[in-house]
Amino acid sequence: MITRHFGIPVTSPGAILRRERDLGTPLGQETAEVLRSGGLVSDKIIIELVEDWLRLHGGHGFVFDGFPRTLPQAESLMSMLTKLRTALDLVIWLEVSEQTVRDRITGRLQCGECGFTTSSASAQFANRPVCPYCDGRLERRNDDDLGVLQTRLQEFHTKTEPLGAFYKKISILRRIDGNRDRDAVFADISKLIEDKTSK
Ligand code: AMP
Repeated sequence: MITRHFGIPVTSPGAILRRERDLGTPLGQETAEVLRSGGLVSDKIIIELVEDWLRLHGGHGFVFDGFPRTLPQAESLMSMLTKLRTALDLVIWLEVSEQTVRDRITGRLQCGECGFTTSSASAQFANRPVCPYCDGRLERRNDDDLGVLQTRLQEFHTKTEPLGAFYKKISILRRIDGNRDRDAVFADISKLIEDKTSK
């Protein structure tokens, strides 16, 4: 939604790694089991992915989805951006309850091509599981499983949650209630982006 509305390129290490897995590349094969089990891929691999992405797309206008997830990743991002003489404008923290997470992953359908995400409760997609944007197949993720979710939550609490304090210290952290519907959450995200881009 951010790319479509603001034209800002979005990248997500999770999406890149799922694509590598589907293509059967060495990187995809090396990381597939970690993704399936809900653990975090090594910082070294993730940082290299992001460095490559920034080298290709430049450091002017980007959104990272699902990155950084650990303190070493956050510190590396700072040094990458310092080298590119680019400031990090905003960190958006979507706060969701465990119940919301459970409900969302139980019905999530994702396009294997462009990452468009919807839910199987949207009858229009459930009957014809094809992406409305690129005609890719809408499918379930193999880590959207309540058992795997426990590992993902544990990784979140031990490794990702401390990033809240890291970004609060540099005053760029904004928290949004992510338990609401997509339009309400996107309206708040848009306001934050508009405030930044109008300065
Ligand atoms: P996501 O698509 O963001 O839910 O990520 C799916 C999976 O990819 C995660 O459960 C991890 O195994 C891996 N992954 C994605 N982003 C990261 C990251 N920043 N650090 C480590 N592993 C990641």
